[in-house]
Amino acid sequence: MKKWSNSEKMPISRSTVQKKSRRWVIKIGSSSLTNSDGVANEEWIQDLCWQIRELREQGVEVILVTSGSVSVGRRVLASESCPTQPSARRAAASLGQAALLTSFYRSFQGTGQSCGQLLVSKADLQLPARRSLRETIQEMMDAGVVPVVNENDATVSPSYLLGNNDMVAVVTARICGADLLLLLTDQKGLHEVDPRISPNSPVIPWGYASDPRFLQMAKGTGSGMGTGGMATKIHAAQRAARSGIPTLIALAQEEQILLQIRRGRKLGTLLLSQRTSLDRIRGIFERWKLGKDKARLALSAWA
Ligand code: GLU
Repeated sequence: MKKWSNSEKMPISRSTVQKKSRRWVIKIGSSSLTNSDGVANEEWIQDLCWQIRELREQGVEVILVTSGSVSVGRRVLASESCPTQPSARRAAASLGQAALLTSFYRSFQGTGQSCGQLLVSKADLQLPARRSLRETIQEMMDAGVVPVVNENDATVSPSYLLGNNDMVAVVTARICGADLLLLLTDQKGLHEVDPRISPNSPVIPWGYASDPRFLQMAKGTGSGMGTGGMATKIHAAQRAARSGIPTLIALAQEEQILLQIRRGRKLGTLLLSQRTSLDRIRGIFERWKLGKDKARLALSAWA
């Protein structure tokens, strides 16, 4: 694969994106939340909650989107492989979601914070229902409660699920007028060359989400993206970019990942929007429809 090159200068500095943003949607993948045996990684969750507390003290509002219900539930049900029967998957999700939320609830309490659970379906993320989701999230944040979002895998039928939390996270980010979408995963970001072939392959520091090379890399054989999940992350970033929201893909297991990002450290891959004037107008209209929040509108103008 040709070496990655990005001759353009970044249109906005990392420091501006990471230090000035005020509302983060943080999506955590199943593999980051669980140990190799499928048990919720309590220590990691606790550490994450401490970091969220510090972020919030610095004025950042945090909305979590977490996966993991099916993989944790599978373990509780003592099923060896991922349940394929829809009913078995739903049962696993029910058990796993309860276990996960218990871990989050305890950890948030242990760090002097509270969290609340929001289980959504595709319909909740579309108009007109998404307005109530937005209002609920706002109400929770005003009350100092951290919203924890997942799809309602236990009761909603597959056709009413997005089935992928990268997409749930980006829709949540758009609904809530977030100014940073952080996708925490088991990769350091997007690599120039498939890290399975070349383990020392550098991480691409930034790019435009709309750059077609990213999707080609994710789809092609010998992908530079490391996991099949990278294609959905790029799709999510493209969707976020259309609303002017930057996406950062970073390694969940990196020490103090949230605080390092807040300090402006150049970790992971930052995917930015390269918007045309029409996109800008569309973005302004979308935000106007979402809430007419003038302060947020002004802030997101730089994105
Ligand atoms: N909602 C699913 C779960 O909690 C995860 C979907 C995804 O991995 O994107 O297990």
